[in-house]
Amino acid sequence: MNPDCGPECQETLRQIERFLDGELDPGIRAVIDKHLSSCSPCMERAEFRKHLKELIASKCGRDRMPADLLRRVEAMIDAQDAPAP
Ligand SMILES: [Zn+2]
Repeated sequence: MNPDCGPECQETLRQIERFLDGELDPGIRAVIDKHLSSCSPCMERAEFRKHLKELIASKCGRDRMPADLLRRVEAMIDAQDAPAP
């Protein structure tokens, strides 16, 4: 992980779902955007989640993803986000 990573990264990861869904306030969105452009680990996570969302959207059509499937995917992502031992 980037040695400069700290609270900003945690905040970014916390907001990333809403960021990708376009649900954040423009002010927060700008902060996240700025962080992503300067932090490659966070950028990679954002890209990964974005691709995953696109993949799910293509499999499930335009319907919303089933809640239980979404939770399983979230758990998988959270496991991936966990710091390496
Ligand atoms: Zn970061």
